[in-house]
Amino acid sequence: MLEHDVIIVGGGLAGCRAAVEIARTDPRLNIAVVAKTHPIRSHSVAAQGGMAASLKNVDSEDSWDAHAFDTVKGSDYLADQDAVEILAKEAPDVVIDLEHMGVLFSRLSDGRIAQRAFGGHSHNRTCYAADKTGHAILHELVNNLRRYGVQVYEEWYVMRLILSENEAKGVVMYRLLDGQIEVLRAKAVMFATGGYGRVYNTTSNDYASTGDGLAMTAIAGLPLEDMEFVQFHPTGLYPVGVLISEAVRGEGAYLINSEGDRFMKNYAPSRMELAPRDITSRAIAYEIRAGRGIHPDGSAGGPFVYLDLRHMGKEKIMSRVPFCWEEAHRLVGVDAVTQPMPVRPTIHYCMGGIPVNTDGRVRSSGDGLVDGFFAAGETSCVSVHGANRLGSNSLLECVVYGKRTGAAIAQYVQKRKLPAVDEQRYITEAQQQIQALLEQPGQYRIHQIRQAFQDCMTNYCGVFRTEELMRQGLQQLEELQQQYPQIYLDDKGSCWNTEIVEALELRSLMVVGQTILASALNRQESRGAHFREDYSQRDDVNFLKHTMAYYSPAGIDIQYRPVAITMFEPKERKY
Ligand SMILES: Cc1cc2nc3c(=O)[nH]c(=O)nc-3n(C[C@H](O)[C@H](O)[C@H](O)COP(=O)(O)OP(=O)(O)OC[C@H]3O[C@@H](n4cnc5c(N)ncnc54)[C@H](O)[C@@H]3O)c2cc1C
Repeated sequence: MLEHDVIIVGGGLAGCRAAVEIARTDPRLNIAVVAKTHPIRSHSVAAQGGMAASLKNVDSEDSWDAHAFDTVKGSDYLADQDAVEILAKEAPDVVIDLEHMGVLFSRLSDGRIAQRAFGGHSHNRTCYAADKTGHAILHELVNNLRRYGVQVYEEWYVMRLILSENEAKGVVMYRLLDGQIEVLRAKAVMFATGGYGRVYNTTSNDYASTGDGLAMTAIAGLPLEDMEFVQFHPTGLYPVGVLISEAVRGEGAYLINSEGDRFMKNYAPSRMELAPRDITSRAIAYEIRAGRGIHPDGSAGGPFVYLDLRHMGKEKIMSRVPFCWEEAHRLVGVDAVTQPMPVRPTIHYCMGGIPVNTDGRVRSSGDGLVDGFFAAGETSCVSVHGANRLGSNSLLECVVYGKRTGAAIAQYVQKRKLPAVDEQRYITEAQQQIQALLEQPGQYRIHQIRQAFQDCMTNYCGVFRTEELMRQGLQQLEELQQQYPQIYLDDKGSCWNTEIVEALELRSLMVVGQTILASALNRQESRGAHFREDYSQRDDVNFLKHTMAYYSPAGIDIQYRPVAITMFEPKERKY
């Protein structure tokens, strides 16, 4: 059996930042990072626009409490304010620390780190590296893994969390290269497995964002928090769904409907294109519904609106958002210097996740904690984003809470021994699971069920939700789940069998999808990204609380947990 003091599943920003912190705190600890991709290919690498911190380089009026207030207001008052306070207070230091590690942030002419405007932020506080911020940060962090001697298991798929007696003891993992199965035990296990964008049919997320960590946690019997809050990013490039960063609007681009109107004046007159994402996405969806969308031939009534950069001029476009220009040019043949880009909302981010406290320790219930189990980054819910995340707060969360969780783990493992794990039992069960997939005489291809599932989630649990729609969605999902044992794998081999991984990922997607639907159905109000046409108002009396959804094959049990309100009393949210 493989053994380490600490196993971190996930090589994105959160996992790498935690690993570096553990190694810095106690260089004697033996740390492993496991990832189903190469760490550099984690979705973090695709982050474009930047990372928020009140450095005050551009705007001397900024402060950590202004950042905290914007975040809480953006969250529609569902964020836990103690966690937000930590996020906003620690932000400037973690940015400087990244700079010291070698991250090349874009600069002002006097050499200090530049900062741009972002949706829902009242000051220019987003630090960036052109529109390739995630790339710049992740490369330095991965280099640092090597420097600190962290062992990296790349292209190993973790298929199970070993949890018994309320204690995480290790993981079971499958090597893509040759199908080898290994049990890895440790004094602490951390999940930093990212989001679940692939639950929906149009997303800005990479193909690996399948919510595996969420599903493994749920299957192990632990709750998932606030899963109904799914972020649509307003500007996915039509028709591919690839992200056009909010940085483009931060730098001054307009949203235009078929009548040539900057329609945001009707939805968020004070913030216009820089309103938070939930409001901007709904505005675009309303415009399209009302027949003011645009068709590819330029006529009205179509499925997208325009993002217009032309007035910004070539020099600004090419220096501030060159990657977004390139994406539109390469993927849909639009030259944004002379033509507007076609955009519509795309699934982007998961506000909910594995519930954790501010040290990254996973909650077993509203007030209990699991021994030896930690989580950070997009897969976790601490909850700094509540019902709606502000742009550039997620990279920040990964780094602030990755670091804090790393520090907490380094302390935690000092007093612990390696747990006893029945290796043979877990290997046999994993082999049986894989063998069953290889042998089942099915009639469906994986992609058929996956597509039907993604369409189901998109149609029945999208921007606008109603009880009737979601009940239909749950029913359809149940039928699809019954078809899962009838999927057929063409590849029966063990060398690079990507079909096995796709089949396991499909199981994760379905568990996550079911949790989203059940959580959304129970929340009979509209808050942040969760918009119910049958309950169109926010209802603080009954729903100012976090959902805790417990999965079991028989169904999902919904409970709730209070919100930490320490600084700002909930108010009506207007922009
Ligand atoms: C296109 C795009 C642009 C964005 N831009 C910004 C931005 O400008 N600012 C901002 O703040 N946020 C942005 N975000 C959001 C932000 O990038 C992410 O929330 C954040 O990077 C997530 O990091 P993470 O470490 O939690 O997970 P990820 O970076 O997604 O990493 C997940 C890791 O887990 C591993 N993994 C998953 N499942 C398994 C398994 N079963 N077995 C083994 N390994 C597994 C993966 O291989 C990967 O290494 C953007 C997101 C997207 C999609």
